[in-house]
Amino acid sequence: MLVSTAIAACTYLSSLQTAMKVPVMFAGRTVLNKPAMTEKVVALTFDDGPSPFTTPTVLDSLKKHHAKATFFLVGQMIHRREYLLRRMMAEGHVIGNHSWSHPYHPDPAKAKDEVRRTNQAIHQVTGFYPAVFRPPGGIMDSWTARLAKAQGLPSVIWTGSSADTATTSSAVVYRNVVAAAHPGAIILMHDVKSHTAAAVPAILATLEKKGYRFVTVPEMLRIWQAAKKKAADQQVAAKVPSTGSTKS
Ligand SMILES: [Zn+2]
Repeated sequence: MLVSTAIAACTYLSSLQTAMKVPVMFAGRTVLNKPAMTEKVVALTFDDGPSPFTTPTVLDSLKKHHAKATFFLVGQMIHRREYLLRRMMAEGHVIGNHSWSHPYHPDPAKAKDEVRRTNQAIHQVTGFYPAVFRPPGGIMDSWTARLAKAQGLPSVIWTGSSADTATTSSAVVYRNVVAAAHPGAIILMHDVKSHTAAAVPAILATLEKKGYRFVTVPEMLRIWQAAKKKAADQQVAAKVPSTGSTKS
């Protein structure tokens, strides 16, 4: 009995690790330029949480649609909200590092501490170190981004934005996200915004109707990798001269 429970636990843990795995080609890189692709998948990303007020609403909506997402957490928000991290993990979402206190331009020493403290806080609750990082403000050359990349974490920017920090209207957030949803898109949202939480059900329903599937960032990067490989293979095939076409 005990042995079978232990085996089940190990299988669960190894499947979790696989789900969070990021292709080597993105390790320590800035993730920004989406390859051309046709597969209808989008990665919704939620930054700056967790919030006890709005994150549960977002999680409820995602669950209803069997949608997976990525939450880039601010480390100092985790204390007393550990139950939200456990819920994210249990429901198949991915947790990323979004620094400890969200500074835009910290010096190298502070930036190192920002990345390290959040990695540790997430590990303490979930048992896993995050496999993805998003720099505060999406600032690609900040010290937090550089130091996270030096640790092998991909620095994940976005291909489209909800622009939910520039509005308080759920209708605007809905319109922006639906417009930003293309095959392979990574979309920026904030689960700490109540107007964003309120827009999520309609976003999911509309995109689902358009045939989209909702994946985590690590899964999206695996899909990007396959698309990049396919494009490279096609380029090689196009360069190979056809036989019998040359005359001496
Ligand atoms: Zn942020």
